[in-house]
Amino acid sequence: MVTTHNLGFPRIGGQRELKFALEDYWAGRQTGHDLAITAADLRRRHWQQQAKLDFVPVGEFSLYDQVLDMSVTVGNLPARVANKDGSALDDYFRAARGRGANDSPCCATAAGEMTKWFDTNYHYIVPEFTADTQFELNPERLLSQLAEAREQGVSAKPVIIGPVTYLWLGKSTDGSNRLDLLERLLPVYAQLLEALADAGVEWVQVDEPALVTDLDANWRYAFNLAYHQLKTNRPKLLLATYFGELRGNLQLACELPVAGVHLDALSAPDEVNRIVDWLPSHKVLSLGVINGRNIWKADLAKTLEWLEPVHEKLGERLWLAPSCSLLHVPVDLTPEQDLDGEIREWLAFAVQKLDELQMLARALNEGRLAVQGPLAANKQSIESRQRSTRVVNPVVRAAVAGITAEQGKRQSPYTQRIALQQTALKLPAFPTTTIGSFPQTPEIRQARLQYRKGELTGPAYTQKMQAEIAHCIREQEKLGLDVLVHGEPERNDMVEYFGEQLDGYAFTRFGWVQSYGSRCVKPPILFGDIHRPKAMTVEWTTYAQSLTDKPVKGMLTGPVTILNWSFVRDDQPRKDSCLQLALAIRDEVQDLEKAGVNIIQIDEAALREGLPLRQSDWETYLDWAINSFRVAANDVADSTQIHTHMCYSEFNDIIEAIARMDADVITIETSRSNMELLDAFKNFEYPNDIGPGVYDIHSPNTPDRDHIINLMKLAAERIPPERLWVNPDCGLKTRKWEEVTPALQTMVAAAQALRG
Ligand code: GLN
Ligand code: ZN
Repeated sequence: MVTTHNLGFPRIGGQRELKFALEDYWAGRQTGHDLAITAADLRRRHWQQQAKLDFVPVGEFSLYDQVLDMSVTVGNLPARVANKDGSALDDYFRAARGRGANDSPCCATAAGEMTKWFDTNYHYIVPEFTADTQFELNPERLLSQLAEAREQGVSAKPVIIGPVTYLWLGKSTDGSNRLDLLERLLPVYAQLLEALADAGVEWVQVDEPALVTDLDANWRYAFNLAYHQLKTNRPKLLLATYFGELRGNLQLACELPVAGVHLDALSAPDEVNRIVDWLPSHKVLSLGVINGRNIWKADLAKTLEWLEPVHEKLGERLWLAPSCSLLHVPVDLTPEQDLDGEIREWLAFAVQKLDELQMLARALNEGRLAVQGPLAANKQSIESRQRSTRVVNPVVRAAVAGITAEQGKRQSPYTQRIALQQTALKLPAFPTTTIGSFPQTPEIRQARLQYRKGELTGPAYTQKMQAEIAHCIREQEKLGLDVLVHGEPERNDMVEYFGEQLDGYAFTRFGWVQSYGSRCVKPPILFGDIHRPKAMTVEWTTYAQSLTDKPVKGMLTGPVTILNWSFVRDDQPRKDSCLQLALAIRDEVQDLEKAGVNIIQIDEAALREGLPLRQSDWETYLDWAINSFRVAANDVADSTQIHTHMCYSEFNDIIEAIARMDADVITIETSRSNMELLDAFKNFEYPNDIGPGVYDIHSPNTPDRDHIINLMKLAAERIPPERLWVNPDCGLKTRKWEEVTPALQTMVAAAQALRG
């Protein structure tokens, strides 16, 4: 018999119950006890939804983040979050978000840094280390969840982050080597394992996804050291790797003294047979056979084709699971009754994925005949997707096949273009602009919602949006900004807005995925060839331009960002989907240009996020990503000015690719790095215009004029001043007008002072 299990379940709740409970707690509308009840209810429901599995994950449920939970478990919360008057729960939230429920706004604590969990869009709280860090076991959370599971008759397999990955995920705040802490950390892990054994646990899942990254000899040695030391503990360890291939770490993973290894067979299909051959015969092999990061139904027959021979070889030693925790997919497809019936047929969310797993296990255990019906139904869904005329559009295919290198090239080099643009635009030195969005007020949100529900007619909606655009233009003129924007009131989200207008996209109602803490995103589903039936932004932009003599910048989201923030197709390479998106955006760029819009910004906020986990794979990604941007952006007249925007601050390792985009102007997030990040641009001799963000839009505070001037002076030491723009870090949609107006006033005043 094969064993089935799961690596982790989404915790936010099908209706985002955890989100609302958390936010109520933080706002003082709920007590910690209320929050605990919601959390326990969710766990109970989630365990029931996984009840058919042989082992159910326990302890991966988190009130905020599983990495932060591990920091609590090993007693490594930053000292600054401890508050004598507060509860442990508030210490936890202070580490997560700078505030406990009862902290007054004046006394915020610095929250832990947040960064992306491998190559997913989930963000974790970075553990902090110094040379003096001491660890201490604090197993209550895990043990109480375990007891709770036991009471409910759950066949529990506790989940923890392994010691090496835990250190790998963190950062040292004093320049010390965090790997030196391993020997101090291991005894705490040993105690934890013993405590779990005392509680009657047989298997513990130890997540070590660092094994799918490039590891140097020290880190590889750390794995050996750690698991040789932990092998004397009683529970059996299932070493879980996911998100990628093991490559050079495959032998290491096979040889570590643990009772079993989990391999993500979706990301590492070519390693399945190698690991089957390498793995010592006393170990179990868990294979991730259902994609835990995408929303498509699995092709069960195709999976069984390769899985049956593996089962033949391994017999009882074979375990089956999703490829990774299901944290990265929505909970349940059942409530998606508004979704187009044909497309719904192609999808599987967490609950459905576990059903698929069950079917695979039964097919192996009892033979395919035992699940004949479900297999036939699955086959039908898979074929209906393959055959659907809504997936394939021959015109789009032909257009992508016909893309030439010429199409991604501007007519003349930057120096010639910028001269033409300057003559046409007549901008002052240090031109001022913003990144696109202005505050999303309750009124505009309300109008969008009413329009969606049919409570507002098309013309009435247009009127409301135009009024908001007119307001934005008036305010910008009053502020004296040089390049204006229409303010994006019609956009709920910079990806969804475009997805909704493109053929090939579908949207869910409840398809929420946790991004961090209580924040969720609802990625649109890219299911078919992308086609733009009509212009998407031209009317709003030209309306804005009609109200002012100043230039208005058209505002688009770039193909790479749309791709990276969607659930994408698994039936064609990402690269192909990206080029299709590029062609759609390119059509929009050209329509804007025809309509007289001379400045067009194409946001690539998520370009860096798409970087593969292994540096050796970066070049391939960057080649197609940058090419997609160029195809979208560069077929315009020399006098048309292309801007791009990126909201992150690490450019050193990708600056060459950024330069290849050849945008006339790039605006970036810099204010928190004191312009140091411009060193990358300086050292590379980045040739085009740059707008380094001069203030942090994430903060409600008004920036200081002299501070901005100083920042710009620092910038001018690195970039010739004639190529510098003055702008905020990012879009202003999350701010209030009362915050935005004085902030921009100060920014404009600073630019004027600089000109003087
Ligand atoms: N144009 C977008 C805005 O201003 C850019 C947002 C972003 O970079 N994330 O909101
Ligand atoms: Zn941004």
